[in-house]
Amino acid sequence: MSTPKVILVTGGSGLVGQAMRHVLFDEKTELAFRAQPDEVWHFMASKEADLRSPEETEKLFEKYKPTHVVHLAALVGGLFKNMSHNLSFLRDNILINDNVLNTSHKTNVQKVISCLSTCVFPDGAGAPPDLYPLTEAKIHLGPPHSSNFGYSHAKRLVDVQNRAYKEQYGRNYTSAIPTNIFGPHDNYDLRDSHVIPGLMHKCYLAEKNGTVFQPAGSGRPLRQFIYSHDLAKVFIWMLRHYDDVEPLIVSVSEEQEVSIEYVVNKVVAAFQKNRAARNEAAGSDGQFRKPTSNAKLRAVLEKSGVNFEFTPFEQALQESVDWFVENYETARTGDVNQVSLL
Ligand code: NAP
Ligand code: GDP
Repeated sequence: MSTPKVILVTGGSGLVGQAMRHVLFDEKTELAFRAQPDEVWHFMASKEADLRSPEETEKLFEKYKPTHVVHLAALVGGLFKNMSHNLSFLRDNILINDNVLNTSHKTNVQKVISCLSTCVFPDGAGAPPDLYPLTEAKIHLGPPHSSNFGYSHAKRLVDVQNRAYKEQYGRNYTSAIPTNIFGPHDNYDLRDSHVIPGLMHKCYLAEKNGTVFQPAGSGRPLRQFIYSHDLAKVFIWMLRHYDDVEPLIVSVSEEQEVSIEYVVNKVVAAFQKNRAARNEAAGSDGQFRKPTSNAKLRAVLEKSGVNFEFTPFEQALQESVDWFVENYETARTGDVNQVSLL
């Protein structure tokens, strides 16, 4: 038997980390994505090490001695948390990423896959008309949207770091660039979460308390969404088969870009509520759209003989809502007494 791979998943307690754990160890998962006999997986949370600290990061790596790292840990939040904390998003994520990559290098980790976000791309407003669809080659072509420039610049730097580690030391570090993610174990904080978990929590409370369900913004912005279980499969595949410093966009197709209003209506339907949602014009819309192409993802998966299908949006949303309702008491719901999102 080959030498076992020891894989450390940073951010293992979060939305994507929990999805990886589920996919790897669930008997219903296709064999190609299940944990292999020569793999030892460790999922870590911030209580084990604050990755902003170089000392704590080094101790963590000394403890597990990983040969491979899936780097998911980050300060993460939706539009409203980003808008009010750009400096924290910039500093925390620069520190976390630098510590994880540098400690990986110092301890001779063979491969690191980090997680970026489609926020890293230049914003379309004022950009040349051929900016869309966004592809892997367009990350550094212009400034990101102002709402989350701190997070976006910290994440962009990971791509720069990966290239520098490769150029100077021949390291095999790369990144995935997912669109908006949703699924079980999300962050459902009413103010700090991303749009889908935020809407789910608001819809749940409106039902429970007989109040009005109030999404933020105009409902007009457009987004692509990916189910956390689908993303987890791509990370597992990348860890085993993808050896290129060039990042990989992990997204549904361009045709599956949907409006926030569409998502609001689907969330209402998943809760089987009849009440029409009210789209209040209060609160920011954020970036209007950031459509990405998944042509490269499709090509590399096909070349490697993987038959990969994205879970249909409505099915994934229903599974996420059902999980949330069943696990409401222990889910990350934050302070439910916040009067307003904004
Ligand atoms: P999440 O649910 O908020 O989980 C964040 C994870 O990072 C948790 O495990 C958390 O640990 C850990 N973490 C945060 N600060 C840390 C620190 N200082 N030291 C050690 N661990 C720390 O986030 P997620 O949605 O799974 O995000 C995973 C990755 O996907 C991130 O890199 C994020 O930028 C990226 N991403 C997310 C989205 C999205 O829509 N959610 C979209 C695009 C990209 P604790 O549980 O202990 O706090
Ligand atoms: P983004 O994709 O990085 O902008 O982040 P989000 O996942 O937070 O999505 C923000 C978009 O969803 C904006 O157009 C918001 O106006 C809209 N939205 C509607 N209701 C909510 C909500 O309850 N929470 C959040 N975060 N966004 C909402």
